[in-house]
Amino acid sequence: MHRDVWIIAEHKNNHVETVTLEILSEGRELANKLNGEMCVCLIGYQVDACIDSLIKYGIEKVYLTDNELLCEYSLDAYAFSLEKLTEKYHPSLIMIGATPLGSELAPRIAARLKLPCITEVGRITVNGENLIITKSGYSDKIYMNFDYFPQKTLVMTILPGEMDIEETNESKEMVVIRENIHIEPDTIRTRNVRFIKGDPKEIGLDQAEIIVAVGRGIGSSGLSIVQEFADVLGASIGGTRLAVDEGIIPIERQIGITGKSIAPKFLIAIGISGAREFTAGMEKATLTVAINTDAEARIFRSADLGLVGDYNDIIPLLIKELKELKRDLAQGELHT
Ligand SMILES: Cc1cc2nc3c(=O)[nH]c(=O)nc-3n(C[C@H](O)[C@H](O)[C@H](O)COP(=O)(O)OP(=O)(O)OC[C@H]3O[C@@H](n4cnc5c(N)ncnc54)[C@H](O)[C@@H]3O)c2cc1C
Repeated sequence: MHRDVWIIAEHKNNHVETVTLEILSEGRELANKLNGEMCVCLIGYQVDACIDSLIKYGIEKVYLTDNELLCEYSLDAYAFSLEKLTEKYHPSLIMIGATPLGSELAPRIAARLKLPCITEVGRITVNGENLIITKSGYSDKIYMNFDYFPQKTLVMTILPGEMDIEETNESKEMVVIRENIHIEPDTIRTRNVRFIKGDPKEIGLDQAEIIVAVGRGIGSSGLSIVQEFADVLGASIGGTRLAVDEGIIPIERQIGITGKSIAPKFLIAIGISGAREFTAGMEKATLTVAINTDAEARIFRSADLGLVGDYNDIIPLLIKELKELKRDLAQGELHT
């Protein structure tokens, strides 16, 4: 078995997804410690443009499988391609995001090739010859450490938002290996008919792209206006521990060190003071807006944009603006 670390790239419209970039930083360190190479598997159709965006992450090899039958994600075709690649190269580790795609693909490959598989991993450390793999369990109430001696390829899914994206200045040469895997059309037994976006009220905070986070400051009667705002935005609702204690949101919606770590593209924090225990769970949000009556509130230090004021005044205005914007967009009146 090689000591190589493989990361399966998730990509959309020729852009590599954030979760893959997060795993690359971890993969680079693991490959160094295991004296192996960090490799990326890029599976799809006409996805060469993704390769350029990978250069700055210290990747040594890209295994590229380009096939018209892979133009749209298909579990059967992806699993088949990965199975063939794994059988040929025997990497030490295969890592993919614990996303809907990774969560169905990883166990499938592991089962087909009779390989061990650990899902929803949060951290991996190297201890001598062994790997210590950490994941949480029982709704984040405990952490479990798996002590693994790599004899077979280990397949893992990695939780999004757990690892930092780090580019490297190391100028390693990245070799692209084109693997022409023949896929019979009848390998693909299912196809996507259409995608239905998850209801923001139902999906987990770790999956949500837009989150409205609430704190004790919205009071026990404030949720209805916030829910209306979240509905217009297509956002999921989360919040602080005190919002949970006040019965404003359920405990599975708590963000922070004793709640969920989130990494949405857009976060709006309303009536939240910004205690460290909360902000530790929201640091990976791409863009954060905070609304608070107290101009000195600590939350403003973690926000890209701060609105000082009462949410009762600000939120109805935002709802009105958003509704008008949506109506204009629907009517095609917005030209800028
Ligand atoms: C061991 C431990 C673990 C913890 N884990 C977590 C955790 O995982 N997650 C977490 O969140 N907390 C956690 N906490 C609690 C944390 O320390 C804070 O107490 C909590 O985050 C504060 O919640 P809050 O911001 O909702 O409330 P507050 O601190 O009471 O803040 C309310 C804010 O609302 C503002 N406000 C009031 N009225 C309005 C209005 N009308 N419009 C706009 N703004 C308004 C106020 O100015 C204030 O800043 C933990 C604490 C401990 C000790």
